Amino acid sequence: MDAQRRVLKDGAVLIKDGSIVQVGKSAEVKRQGRAEFEIDAKGKVVLPGLIDTHIHLAQALIRGCADDTSLIDWLQKFVWPLQGNFDSEDGKVSAELCMLEMIESGTTTFLESLLHSRYGFDGIAETIERSGMRGILSKTVMGLPGYGSEKSIMHLGMIEDAETCLREVETYFKRWNGRADDRIKVWYGARSLGGCTPELYAQIARNAKRLGTGVTMHLSEVEDDVRYTKKEFGKMPAEFMDQVGLVGPNVVFAHGVWLTENEWRLLASKGASVAHCPSSNMKLASGIAKVPEMMSAGVNVSIGCDGGPSNNSYDMIREMKTASLLQKARTMNPLSMNAETVLEMATLNGAKALGLHDQIGSIEPGKRADVIVVTMQKPHLIPTFNPVSHIAYAALGSDVDTTIIDGKIVMENRHVTTLDERSIIENASERATKLLERAEIKITPRWIMQ
Ligand SMILES: [Zn+2]
Repeated sequence: MDAQRRVLKDGAVLIKDGSIVQVGKSAEVKRQGRAEFEIDAKGKVVLPGLIDTHIHLAQALIRGCADDTSLIDWLQKFVWPLQGNFDSEDGKVSAELCMLEMIESGTTTFLESLLHSRYGFDGIAETIERSGMRGILSKTVMGLPGYGSEKSIMHLGMIEDAETCLREVETYFKRWNGRADDRIKVWYGARSLGGCTPELYAQIARNAKRLGTGVTMHLSEVEDDVRYTKKEFGKMPAEFMDQVGLVGPNVVFAHGVWLTENEWRLLASKGASVAHCPSSNMKLASGIAKVPEMMSAGVNVSIGCDGGPSNNSYDMIREMKTASLLQKARTMNPLSMNAETVLEMATLNGAKALGLHDQIGSIEPGKRADVIVVTMQKPHLIPTFNPVSHIAYAALGSDVDTTIIDGKIVMENRHVTTLDERSIIENASERATKLLERAEIKITPRWIMQ
């Protein structure tokens, strides 16, 4: 993933003090002398760590708890009541589960988009510190209990007031931004349209500028977003966001399914990014984002897995395949989005979206050592003529066997060294059962479970 997009056969990567210092043919790199520690990657592919630019950490615990249902029911009957019953221990366990899954499938950096206070910000930030991951936590800011045209529909447990939200972001920013060797960042997580007044969006934009930090929010995910901003403000969603000052290089909009050509040009001219979430858009039947067209208009588009009830996995390797195939089917053009493009979206474009392109997104000297090793020694990956094709179309997250973040090995031979997999799986199953009881929600599969 360097500027020339070289694919090095029999290559080696030399890492020192958390940074990549040399990349080249093995023989060349070995001239530096023996390394203190070597990983044999024979028959494997070494890639930059994957960057997931739209996730909900607190939704890992409610994976599979809202399937095959319309969006408003999905939110009102399942997701919000469940999340509205979270306590900070649920938030921590869900984050642990999610980070475990990400590390095991090669994601090294993520952007969490909406952390409500009840999930326990500190516990989640501590989990990033412990897991060794690189993560941006966006604390929710909201002022209205609505969702698009639907007024006052939010679950009581999810409602927060604007002043407290704004104060909390600053508190958490001071406490956590730059912590854990700069692996943790704190952003503003503006609630979706209908969740903030125009004044509040403008306030978020001003505050983010003052702190020098980022903002993320869901935008034009569903067609109702367009109806809502047109009726309320006489503008398209991105035009409205621009009017309140929330379109800039420090902003990541999730989804962007219903954005139009003018809006693409607007986002491109202001340097804002879009996190494309193909599985979520398909599962919730939100529509299909016109990603190749958006990218041709100059928008930086990255990839996001979204959440446990909308995807229902946090596996970026699977998501790359979905992203590519979805465009081919929509455009009926197999050239519309190729393997190389989706790999760029999952690495370099992600780094750019997060303002971290000087540090991560490629394997180049001077960058932080966020590197994954993916085995090709599996029946479904043989023969291996083009590794980029295999990563995009044939590999699975479980083919990642080593994950290195900031120069530290956090998974080796599929064993995660920073988190205790067994206890996390046990805790998460237990807490999810209790959460469902508290929220009085029953998952009733259509087929009888005996
Ligand atoms: Zn989302």
